[in-house]
Amino acid sequence: MQYTEIMVRYGELSTKGKNRRSFIMQLAQNVRGALIEFPALKIHADRDRMHLILNGEDSNLVIPKLQKVFGIQNFSPSIRVEKTPEALRAVAEDIMREIYTGEETFKITAKRSDHGFEMNTHDLQQFLGQAVVDVFPDIKAQMKRPDINLRVEIRRDAAFLSFATIKGAGGLPVGTSGRGMLMLSGGIDSPVAGYLAMKRGVEIEAVHFASPPYTSEQALQKAKDLTEKLTPYVGSIQFIEVPFTEIQEEIKKHTPKGYWMTITRRMMLRITDAIREMRKGLVIINGESLGQVASQTLHSMLAINEVTTTPIIRPVVTMDKTEIIELAEKIDTFELAIQPFEDCCTIFAPPQPKTRPKLDKVQALETRLDIEGMIARALTGLKIEAITPEKSQQEMVDAFADLL
Ligand code: ATP
Ligand code: MG
Repeated sequence: MQYTEIMVRYGELSTKGKNRRSFIMQLAQNVRGALIEFPALKIHADRDRMHLILNGEDSNLVIPKLQKVFGIQNFSPSIRVEKTPEALRAVAEDIMREIYTGEETFKITAKRSDHGFEMNTHDLQQFLGQAVVDVFPDIKAQMKRPDINLRVEIRRDAAFLSFATIKGAGGLPVGTSGRGMLMLSGGIDSPVAGYLAMKRGVEIEAVHFASPPYTSEQALQKAKDLTEKLTPYVGSIQFIEVPFTEIQEEIKKHTPKGYWMTITRRMMLRITDAIREMRKGLVIINGESLGQVASQTLHSMLAINEVTTTPIIRPVVTMDKTEIIELAEKIDTFELAIQPFEDCCTIFAPPQPKTRPKLDKVQALETRLDIEGMIARALTGLKIEAITPEKSQQEMVDAFADLL
């Protein structure tokens, strides 16, 4: 079915009192970004609702994209109809012919903000209900939890008919919580962490540590591809590649095996924090999950975290691996993440890193390294590129076709 308008209901932002206006503006901007390839589409954002006027753009293409925008509770695609009972009846009948399979119960729900309309809501419900029964004499009306709820809204400029309510992505509009640096490896956990941070309104930039030639071009590409999987929620994401080879070689040369992992992680965190400052971020996000590996014991986290007081969000820290994988499958990063390209940590990983690194020992070992110099050199070698969505439209339409 082709719709002419989509009525969007806001998510949690309605509870945000005085910030409401800026939330709505941000959401409108994000919707515009997600629907950039539909130039004719117009957005009208009111206090309570957002209306997308399709102006001939294909609703089947628009809907799957809209479903990924955070800050939307749900939305109803609707058809604009001339404000006369006859026109409403004709379109209501058309809709029912298209969606009624002979099984469903139905109900008409009318609402009017234009009180000059010739029928009141009760009469209009009766009138359209009768029209449907005239076409399908066996259909059953049901007031509580009908299978089909055909809604009609009489507004000042026109009338609107809709029957579907599609669940939105929930969360807060990306950007309303400020900016954060996502430490993105090539694994399963960090993309999920990035997705969850975006869901709570954080605008992310991806920071990836690469150690060529120890890490391959494919490993780098994989990190970029994972970033691309996160772009539909925002439009585009900055990908920041950090040259990490020198640092890993130095650590390996000057410190004992058991401490490589802890010192490596401290260097990553220091550099990420410096990038955060440069890029005006407020927070760091990573994919650490408690107890998963040696670097993710609480003792390790304490020793690693000591290099900064910047808040670190660890969205998956208390999740089980199976729960993380479920989300990775939902956002379509799982298949990519399990491709076997070694990242910088696996390559330099000693067989038995310390699970209880001692902070004073770590600090003493680090005096053997030119920490400041290595950070400065890594920062001058940053490569920054914007990653944008590529996914073919047809693929998305197929995936979401059964929703309507
Ligand atoms: P992931 O599945 O995200 O790779 P992991 O379970 O493999 O996580 P680690 O390898 O210990 O765990 O990494 C912990 C976190 O450190 C990652 O989730 C990520 O946030 C960060 N990290 C690890 N390697 C890199 C890298 N090469 N570049 C950027 N961040 C990294
Ligand atoms: Mg990893």
